[in-house]
Amino acid sequence: MRRWQRIGWGLLAGLAGGAPAPAAPAAKPNFVIVFCDDLGYGDLACYGHPTIRTPNLDRMAAEGQKWTNFYAAASVCTPSRAALMTGRLPIRSGMCDDQRRVLFPDSAGGLPASEITLSEALRDLGYATACVGKWHLGHLPPYLPTNNGFDSYFGIPYSNDMDRLADSPKGREAIWNPRPEYFNVPLMRDREVVERPADQTTITKRYTEETIGLIRKLKDRPFFIYLAHNMPHIPLFASKDFLGTSRRGLYGDVVEEVDSGVGRILDTIRESGLAERTLVVFTSDNGPWLTFDTHGGSAGPLRDGKGCTWEGGMREPGIFWWPGTVKPGLVQDLGCTMDLYTTCIALAGGKVPADRPVDGVDLTPVLRGEGPSPRDTMFYYRGTQLFAVRHGPFKAHFKTQGAYDGKPAVAHDPPLLFHLGHDPGESFNVASKHPDVLATIAEIAEAHRKGMVPGEPQLRKRIGKE
Ligand code: MG
Repeated sequence: MRRWQRIGWGLLAGLAGGAPAPAAPAAKPNFVIVFCDDLGYGDLACYGHPTIRTPNLDRMAAEGQKWTNFYAAASVCTPSRAALMTGRLPIRSGMCDDQRRVLFPDSAGGLPASEITLSEALRDLGYATACVGKWHLGHLPPYLPTNNGFDSYFGIPYSNDMDRLADSPKGREAIWNPRPEYFNVPLMRDREVVERPADQTTITKRYTEETIGLIRKLKDRPFFIYLAHNMPHIPLFASKDFLGTSRRGLYGDVVEEVDSGVGRILDTIRESGLAERTLVVFTSDNGPWLTFDTHGGSAGPLRDGKGCTWEGGMREPGIFWWPGTVKPGLVQDLGCTMDLYTTCIALAGGKVPADRPVDGVDLTPVLRGEGPSPRDTMFYYRGTQLFAVRHGPFKAHFKTQGAYDGKPAVAHDPPLLFHLGHDPGESFNVASKHPDVLATIAEIAEAHRKGMVPGEPQLRKRIGKE
């Protein structure tokens, strides 16, 4: 409250001293969103990892904001990406499912054309738009990035462990000692497959270089570049300059190569004179894939990982960088990838669609250091079901389920309740001490469920079986 009053007084003081000349409309800022795959909350040095070196991301965080309560909107790839692109919970677009949790190479569905993607919204505001990397919102022509508001696309359209060849080593051997030829994934340029199998040993490097080329090419107009790395999703691949160089083994090599790429991208932005008008965001789609031993990452102090609604499944590193605009510091307020949608559209001078519910909120006040986050609540879905709700520091689990243990969900009545400030690892159930909090969260959940209109399910449609 006091902070807002200070701003109000400052404005009045300015007017009392003679009205300042109206400011010229600010140029539209550029946006670069770097989105990793399966990177855990604890996988960066600046988030506490003891043996992975991430000097470029550490510097980005020191020059910008490091968020410690920033969330992906789902715990697996496809729904998480749908939410980022639409600013909406994936259930609204039909991009989540209780059986098939993501899209596969035999999937016939994808992001419905009726959704207004961030790229479509920004393109309508005069932006050049480019998608580099993993898409995973439909690989058939109607669903590709170039049909979803992106001027160009270069990347693997789904997960890098798909299209595994039958004669590749059995079981997990193909993961422990991966070779690109075991995974027949396509690399696409716009709508054409240009390489198959994609040489994944150079994929992080090539995505970085594509992004650098785009920044140089587009520097004279506002641009939005969505760089969605396939790494560090298994099977892990690093280029020869990074292989065997980290103390964290192959996983560390891979993350350090991603970090190096971010450094090169920020250098390009600085050298192009764009630092003061480019917002760069770094985060990931979901938590670490813990069932893959040392080939999966770390959620740090958070519980569990990818695939579940414990904090480790959805809370992510969230780094915001924009010299001169993003006020450097540590941010403990709540934020979510869906908020990137609303924030970028607002910063570009636009408005989010008014004809549908949008779940993202505008984080600009926090980025500028002018006010608290408008987000106070997080909904945790597993597939189409609301499993948990966070409100302020408290999180109530109505249901819990292991990530990949094959066991059914367990319902909790009363719900499990954790204070995520006191207990970020969700170890100590405090439900019996806070009946008032449980009642408030139950009301929030009830109102949310009542107002929810699910979209037509997209993830169960299969090619030839519609
Ligand atoms: Mg993922």
